[in-house]
Formats: sequence, C-alpha cells, structure tokens
Amino acid sequence: MRVFEPIIELSKGLGEVLRSFLFEKTVTYQYPEVKREVRPRFRGRHVLNRYDNGLEKCIGCSLCAAACPADAIFVESSENTDEKRFSPGERYASTYEINMLRCIYCGFCEDACPTEAITLGDNYELSFTDRKQAIYTKDMLLLPVKAENMLTPQKVEPKVFTRSVPQMEDPRD
Ligand code: SF4
Ligand code: SF4
Repeated sequence: MRVFEPIIELSKGLGEVLRSFLFEKTVTYQYPEVKREVRPRFRGRHVLNRYDNGLEKCIGCSLCAAACPADAIFVESSENTDEKRFSPGERYASTYEINMLRCIYCGFCEDACPTEAITLGDNYELSFTDRKQAIYTKDMLLLPVKAENMLTPQKVEPKVFTRSVPQMEDPRD
C-alpha cells in the first residue's frame, strides 16, 4: 500500500540512526589541533606547483582561466629570460589570482592545465572577513621551495629550458 511507504522509509531512517547511536564508536577530532584526513578525491584549496629544481610549473598560458566556469581565475603573463627565469619556456605567470568566493571546486582548472601546475590540494581552511581577503594571490598559492637557492627567478644555462611543456615519456600518460 502506497500510503504506508513514507512510514516504512521513515522507520528505516530512524532505525539507521538508532543502530549507529548504539553500536558505532563516536569519533571526535580535537580540531584545529588535530585535523581529519581528507578522502583521496577531495578537492580543497588550490596550490601552484614547482619542479624539483624550484622552477614554477605555471607558464602563464591562461587555459585554467578559460576553462573556469565561475570566472574565478585571473592570469597575466610575462617573458622569461635565462638571466631571470621563473618557469621553463617563454612565459611565466607574473600575476595569478583566484577568487575563492567564486570558486565552486569543480577541478576544471586542474584538468585544463598542460603542465600540472595548478592542483586542488587537501587544505579546507578557508575563511575571510572581507572580499579582498578571498582573492588568493600567486604568493599565497605557490608551494615553498626545498632550498634557498631554488627560489624563482633563477639564473640558468642558456637554451636549456626552452620547452614550456615537459616531454612525455609515454604519450598515454
Ligand atoms: S576549481 Fe573550478 S571554479 Fe574553482 S577556480 Fe578551478 S575551474 Fe574555477
Ligand atoms: S596554471 Fe596551468 S593552465 Fe593556468 S596559466 Fe598556469 S600553466 Fe596555464
């Protein structure tokens, strides 16, 4: 009888609540001292990645900005030189900003990026008290370097870092 269906569904739901209340262990995290591990597919705050030598992976191509459905990313690019090199190839992102109030954490920017420069990390601690604070700049997004001499810009050997996109060992990668 259809009339009993809502009552049956409601009973199932209440039964589930009762089962977890009686038989499941309560888990309390002492946040913010203890942070809960996120799921592998969690999409948190973005990071701008570097290569092992400290050069920035971002080449300022703006593909992430073009792919973003929320119009949350702003990129401005400038020319690299071997005296002052930020990233491999011709250009680097001189300005990179993400408006976190607009972002819907869809991950399209990550998918569009040809160098895997932008990735959505595991940081979920986003809070602001005004709109200006919600705009994350390149300095805030860029990962730190492993050693002082890896900071960008770097002076490098001429004609070494000419490719903007790394050569793939396996084209199916
Ligand atoms: S996660 Fe989605 S909405 Fe957020 S910046 Fe990237 S493309 Fe835009
Ligand atoms: S993050 Fe990737 S897609 Fe966006 S400008 Fe940099 S290299 Fe291009």
